[in-house]
Amino acid sequence: MRVTVTGAAGQIGYALLFRIASGAMLGADTRVDLRLLELPAAARAAEGIAMELQDCAFPTLGTVDVFDDAVPAFDGAEIALLVGSRPRGPGMERRDLLEANGGIFAPQGRALNAGAAADVRVLVVGNPANTNALIAAAHAPDIPAERFTAMTRLDHNRAVAQLAAHESVPVHQVSGVAIWGNHSATQYPDLTHTRVDGRPLGLDRGWYADEFIPTVAKRGAAIIEARGSSSAASAASAAIDHVRDWVAGTPGGEWTSAALPSDGSYGVPEGVVSSFPVRSVAGEWRIVPGLEIDAFSRERIDASVAELVEERNAVRELGLL
Ligand code: NDP
Repeated sequence: MRVTVTGAAGQIGYALLFRIASGAMLGADTRVDLRLLELPAAARAAEGIAMELQDCAFPTLGTVDVFDDAVPAFDGAEIALLVGSRPRGPGMERRDLLEANGGIFAPQGRALNAGAAADVRVLVVGNPANTNALIAAAHAPDIPAERFTAMTRLDHNRAVAQLAAHESVPVHQVSGVAIWGNHSATQYPDLTHTRVDGRPLGLDRGWYADEFIPTVAKRGAAIIEARGSSSAASAASAAIDHVRDWVAGTPGGEWTSAALPSDGSYGVPEGVVSSFPVRSVAGEWRIVPGLEIDAFSRERIDASVAELVEERNAVRELGLL
């Protein structure tokens, strides 16, 4: 399969590429041809990574090519991992950030539209990921919008791990966790449908509201504070999980979380790229239907979705949609 990765010479790129090449994303029987896209200033660094990939002699790795132009980079792409984005600089307002990223994701959407496989799967990791996915999809009219997704799997994995630690159980015994809304501090990690070892979780509401939700939402900042740089290996691992489940299916009726263009489910306005509980069936994400949403959840989902609607309005005003 032909896999394009943008921002290939960045931190996440460095943690991601070797796992893709080793077969962790698409399995031991799938040969992967990697196409690395970087800004011209970082293309040389990407060449160095291509040399290291070659030196690993992974049996699953076919070709590795480096590009500084999106059009050839996305030619024939079956999977596109859009990791490179413009980080928020000092004094930068949200509008500036959205505009700068529009300058990256609109042309990448056009390049995908021009040359990617008709059934390409796109995962946006670069922030603001949900709205960057919306922009890219808007510039790729020939590709169904649902092929554009954004990553909330790291938030999901963090929520699963925090709960497992709190309940003193292994992570595989936790099911039914969901992330709703934006990949931002407003995200809502929902434990109201969670089961532990097959039994409904007796939810300690105080711990849930005062410790669990803020810990998951602020985990990225805690890692920066401890490590001195942002989480990269865990973000890369979550990207692998997202694409693997999208291609191979979520196991055993389980669900996970991913940001997709809304079909109007759960009161999320149609088209907004929001995180939902999802299953992957027959190679497609499907929003888990019919979950009961209590008043506590409703308030938090609505707050995060309101932020996404504001971002959509801002990029509309900038002429990016
Ligand atoms: P990283 O590889 O650390 O991060 C890349 C993007 O992923 C950022 O937008 C970052 O958001 C986001 N991200 C999402 N989830 C997480 C998470 N849990 N932890 C950390 N980051 C997360 O950035 P680098 O600066 O190391 O590398 C970016 C690379 O992208 C550079 O090499 C640059 O040249 C390249 N680039 C390429 C472009 C292209 O190919 N056209 C365009 C723009 C940049 P956040 O900033 O919020 O942490």
